[in-house]
Amino acid sequence: MKISRIEHIGIAVKDLENSIKYYEDILGLKCYGIEEVKDQKVRTAFFEVGQTKIELLESTDPEGPIGKFIEKRGEGFHHLAFATENLDESLKKLDDKGIRLIDKKPRKGAKGLDIAFLHPKSTGGVLTELCENKEK
Ligand code: ZN
Repeated sequence: MKISRIEHIGIAVKDLENSIKYYEDILGLKCYGIEEVKDQKVRTAFFEVGQTKIELLESTDPEGPIGKFIEKRGEGFHHLAFATENLDESLKKLDDKGIRLIDKKPRKGAKGLDIAFLHPKSTGGVLTELCENKEK
């Protein structure tokens, strides 16, 4: 497996517009995209910080993964996403090594990336996302 950098850090928020204000007005970052990912029941907002992005995640449904996360743990750090190559092959290798996969196959995430999540039980408690940008 080849990880090149941290692609983004996912933060669960209750109110996307309110949180965008903090990142823009207080931290001076610029939101460059808001996107709804329907099958994940979230609205996302993105900020660039050098080569890495911040992804804010607001639930659109209390029964969705972010809705449940916020109910249990509150707002805050949600997942760490690494940029990788050959995502399909990486997932097979991780599966062979006994790593618990939430997604056995890559699926489409925000910004057209192919993504897959690893289960925090296998990653020291950090929900981990692998991303591959096939368009670059
Ligand atoms: Zn993410």
